[in-house]
Amino acid sequence: MDRLLRYEKKFLKIDNSILLIATALLILYLFSGRLEEVLWYIFAFAFLTQIINYILFFFKYFQRYEIYYLIKYLKIILVAFLIFQEASFMDSIGSILYLLFFIEIVIVSGSHSKISQYFLFSICVFPLFFVYLIASLYMKRSFDNVLYLIFFIALFVCVLMGLVYIIMENVKELNNQLLTQKRITEKAKETNKNLVDAQEKIKIAHKQLTIKNADLKQAYKKLNFASSEMYIQNELLKYISTSLEIDSLMEMVTDSIIGAIGVDTCSIIIYNDSKDEYQFKIKSTYSQDYSSQLDQHIKSGVLDSFFESTQAIIDNNVEKSKYPFLDDRVVGSLMIMPLTRDDLTYGLLIAEQKANNRFTDNMQFFDGIATEISIAIHNANLYAKMEELATHDGLTKVYNRTFIQKHFSEMIKNAIMNKSCVSVALFDIDKFKRINDTYGHLFGDEVIKMTARVTEKIVMLNHGIMGRFGGEEFVIILPKKTTEEALEIVQEVHNAIKDEALYHNGEQINIDVSIGVANYPETCKNPSELLNRADLAMYHSKENGRGRITIDNRED
Ligand code: GH3
Ligand code: MG
Ligand code: MG
Repeated sequence: MDRLLRYEKKFLKIDNSILLIATALLILYLFSGRLEEVLWYIFAFAFLTQIINYILFFFKYFQRYEIYYLIKYLKIILVAFLIFQEASFMDSIGSILYLLFFIEIVIVSGSHSKISQYFLFSICVFPLFFVYLIASLYMKRSFDNVLYLIFFIALFVCVLMGLVYIIMENVKELNNQLLTQKRITEKAKETNKNLVDAQEKIKIAHKQLTIKNADLKQAYKKLNFASSEMYIQNELLKYISTSLEIDSLMEMVTDSIIGAIGVDTCSIIIYNDSKDEYQFKIKSTYSQDYSSQLDQHIKSGVLDSFFESTQAIIDNNVEKSKYPFLDDRVVGSLMIMPLTRDDLTYGLLIAEQKANNRFTDNMQFFDGIATEISIAIHNANLYAKMEELATHDGLTKVYNRTFIQKHFSEMIKNAIMNKSCVSVALFDIDKFKRINDTYGHLFGDEVIKMTARVTEKIVMLNHGIMGRFGGEEFVIILPKKTTEEALEIVQEVHNAIKDEALYHNGEQINIDVSIGVANYPETCKNPSELLNRADLAMYHSKENGRGRITIDNRED
């Protein structure tokens, strides 16, 4: 709209000049006396439109194109009448004015769309034709003047030029549009290429990510596996370390391997240090107990070859003919883990699983388990030895005084509780000093060992316990035995000791013992006095010729 106002200001000046010329011409006409009526009208109209022009401009009506064009069009129509009135010099002035208006419209309409421009050009020519037609047809005027011809040609050339100008502008704009379109297309192509490149890069990155993801998954799987192995090892260790007895240890190992690793059958076989005795345990998820079969296999030497190796065996596709100890069990995967000490196999851990490919070849894991079991066995052995030392006599291997005294109190308690009885016998080897002196201490030791062995055998058969009380003195405790029953057993022991001959350098040596017997509650009512009373009875035997049995004869 600014553009319109700008032009309008300029054209107002032109219009003013035109009006001035028209006024001058009118005055000229007035003086020359050649005034015609039509000319007055034209002048009046020109003057009026100019006034309207000013008013509209003043009130900013030119901000609307429609009003602007309407005024211009009115002017053109008036000028067209000016051209076709009879005074011939007015023709040329009118034509010039007409052209000036036309050019003005062309310039002002430059900001419009091309269609609006065409429309404006077209309608600008119409008034000229209409007035011409009206003048020639209704007013019966003839225009044979050459000037008209020139004017029309000039007018058409002008319109033509205007049209060519518009067409050229259009073509230019179209070209520009095409160029822009081309640039956009090229840019789009480039963007597309970049996109394709980016896509390719993303594809590669995705591929790498997929590989990395797979690697990560693998690592995670391994980690998971390692963690579950660690868990199993920990669980095993937890259970195993709680047991200090070989038998319960084997029980726990087999149980926890079945539970934690998830195998069907688990066996453990352990030989003692001298390899002449073994212990074993076989646990299975099957209802059948395979203990006797396994015992048979160990005895028959089927497993010997595995004891000769320190290498673990993991067979994930078992051919049963290779492992005759598998009996009737369905086994797809088998693991035989040697338990070793000082590079010698002293035990085997055997795990069986129905399915094939059950065991991983992660030897570290099984090695770890085997080491844990070995440590636990070692600990259990140590404990057993310590316990043996604490409760048994080193020379005779029978119970020692501490153990006997501890058990003696318990047996007394039971007897009191059950209103039962306990018999106690104490005995001492007669003239043992002399044996030592005559045959030496080592032979003396043999005598002590023999006495213990013979006594233990008889006492155990009679559900009693016996032990070395110190030196060459022994004790026998016989729960739930009356004095009479006890006497019978003690008699048997006495005879057995006396009859058991020992030889020193071909010389037969027989020994004798002096025995004292007491019974709660028959001979002694006070249980804490029982051992003392048996001791007193034994001294009575010593003092009365030795080699005899004395029964506590007090009844208090
Ligand atoms: P009695 O009991 O008949 O009165 O005579 P005794 O000769 O047995 O007398 P005493 O009880 O004084 O002697 C016991 C001896 O036993 C003294 C000790 O040196 C010996 N002795 C104790 N413990 C052992 C042992 O472990 N081995 C050997 N060889 N001798 C032992
Ligand atoms: Mg003695
Ligand atoms: Mg003695």
